[in-house]
Order: sequence, then C-alpha cells, then structure tokens
Amino acid sequence: MGKLLIVSLDALSSREWEAMAARYPNAAAFARGASASLDARSVFPTNTYPVHCSVATGRPPREHGVTSNTEPFPSRRSRWITSASAIRAKTLWQAAREAGLTSAAALWPCTAGSPDIRWNIPEIHVQPGENQIITNLRSGSFLLQLRMVLRYGKLLDGARQPALDNFVAACAVDVLRRKRPDLTLVHLTCYDTLRHHNPYGSPALETAYASLDGHLGRLLDAAGKDTTAIVFSDHAQLDVHTVLTPNDILVEMGLIGVGADGYEPGGHRCFIECCGGCAFFHAGGLPGDGTARVREAAAASEGFGRFLTDEEMDVSGRAGLAFGFSAKRGYCYNSIKADEKGNHGYPLDMPDYNVFYAVRGKGFTPGARRGGSLLDIAPIAAGILGLGMDNLD
Ligand SMILES: [Zn+2]
Repeated sequence: MGKLLIVSLDALSSREWEAMAARYPNAAAFARGASASLDARSVFPTNTYPVHCSVATGRPPREHGVTSNTEPFPSRRSRWITSASAIRAKTLWQAAREAGLTSAAALWPCTAGSPDIRWNIPEIHVQPGENQIITNLRSGSFLLQLRMVLRYGKLLDGARQPALDNFVAACAVDVLRRKRPDLTLVHLTCYDTLRHHNPYGSPALETAYASLDGHLGRLLDAAGKDTTAIVFSDHAQLDVHTVLTPNDILVEMGLIGVGADGYEPGGHRCFIECCGGCAFFHAGGLPGDGTARVREAAAASEGFGRFLTDEEMDVSGRAGLAFGFSAKRGYCYNSIKADEKGNHGYPLDMPDYNVFYAVRGKGFTPGARRGGSLLDIAPIAAGILGLGMDNLD
C-alpha cells in the first residue's frame, strides 16, 4: 500500500479553490492531475473541529461526538475541544496504528494526547495565562516539537498568520522528508484566519492564496511522487456585516447574567450555544413555557434566518436540545461581541457555501465532477492505506 498526505486548506470554498487553481502554479498543477469533487457538501455544523473529525472518521458529529469547536457555554473561558479522546469513532490514525502504519499530524484538530500519532504537533488554543509551547509539548510529541521549535520557531509570530502556517508547513515538510510517515495530516489555517477579518474577494486575501500555494507545492514535493495526496477544505465562509450575541435575549428575559468573562448561568442553567452561522438553545431546567417564550424571542430577533430541521439537530448531535436556529446571510451568532467580516457554521443549503476535495495519485483519474461530500474522504483514505475502518460499514 502507498503513503498518503492529507492537506486541509481551512475555509477555502469550492469557488475560491477554483479561483486559486486558475492563478497559482502549485494549485493549478495539482488540480490538473487530481480527481476533484467541486461544490461538495461539508458536514453540519460547518465548523472546523466537527468537520475535521468527520474527515478523520467518515462519520457525522452525532456519531463521532465532537459537535463544536469549543465547550458550549458562551464565555471567554470556554475551552476548545482539543483532546483526541473526545472523538468517539475510530479515526484514520487509530486504524493506521492497528495496521502497523505510522502517522504524523501538524496542527490537526482533536489530536492532543493521541497515543496513535507517532509524530504529533497538535492544534492547541491556550487560555490566557497558559504557555503555548509548554502546553503543546505536553500534548503532542515532546522531542519532535522541541526540535521543531528550535529549528523553525523563528518563523512564528505568536499565533498570527501567515507566520503560523509557515511554521506548520516547515515542520510537516521536515517530518515528511526525515520520517516518511505512512499517513500525514496537515491543517493550514491562514485563509480562515484572514477571511474572518476580510470580505470575499478582498485583496488582503491574496496573501493567504500565495501562502497556501507555496506550502502546497513544498508539501507535495516533500511527500514525493509515490505518495497519494488529498487536498480539501472543511467549510466556506460567508460575508458578515453584523455579529449578534443572542444570549442578550436571555439576559433581557432575566434568565442569565453578565460577568467579566461573558455570560453567567442563572438558576435554570439555560443558555444559547453560538456556532457562528447557527445557534442552539440549551434549556437546562427551564420549563416548557419558558422555552417557548425564548423560541418566540429568538424568531423575532434581528438576523434570525430559520429554525433548524429535526435532521439538522440530529446530525449535529443536538437531537436532545429544545431547538436550534440559523442566521440570515450577513449575520452570525457569537458567544461574545467580536469584529468579524466572515464566518462559518451555517446550514448546508446556504448559497456559495460548498467545499471541495481533490485526490491525486495512482488509480485516481484526473478530472472534476460536481457533488460529493466530505464524508467521502475517510473511505478513500482507508482504501489508499488498506485500512479496516469499522465505522465505514
Ligand atoms: Zn475551519
């Protein structure tokens, strides 16, 4: 069986990938040689961690259990879901280890503490007062990360982009060349970071295109011709003109309080979990008539799009909650007030919101089709590596 490189270009929509492949050399060369699914469906909710876990397991959030990027309560102190043990379905790296294959991961979500990834630089979002490097050293491959910081730490500028991607790509190239892993997972977040602060088509985003194109070329080169490569994006972003904080509705109703770190639970312990393009009401101990009043207030609030369907509640792992709702185009729901020019987390039926994946390697005929789903990636990857994934039956 061959080796496999999976590269995630965070937040690059299908049309943005096509625009990039029309103008940048490495993306163009890759697209010419790849079997691509354009306008593919992401996974709901369309946020980075749930989607990456679906790519790694072939299962929706309901089944793999990582239903959001962060803990649900709307507070600055809500932690990101970084631990690999949060994933309840078998991952590609677990299946690879069972098959006696080696894996490497660079900034891949939900990999912290994984015993199955031999060379691991996990994505960790530290809380104020925590040290990024020490937390990373504890959560991934200690010696490898120490060597990488010594060799490439000068590329870093905190968590700023495109510096962070420069570091991540340098580490991944180093591991690809020196360790030759069977499975390598790389998560590049430059476009996502810049897109949150710049509207669609903004000249500022050229920095991200150029950076991603350079990294793609270097990664493919380091992986070598015999390695199959899958490139994909996890979700698109839509332009935002108004950031909403829907928990203000609950404050006005006297159901929750406001504190230094965001909101504070009230006696009923109800709150609205904010996921960008959508939000979910956790009723806690609030009686049914109270929940009905919150539902009415949400429907009457600025920027309300629609209530989520039973299927959307179920697939996102929220079947047990009272209701969820999505934002209209131009609006998004955040835990705390923040400046955003773009966001994700919307339902899959939003226009211009599809993603892509493309596979280049032996047995994959170059060409493009429309359609497909990011849930296709895990079975393709398992097939390339010859893995048994009981998730995928
Ligand atoms: Zn993302």
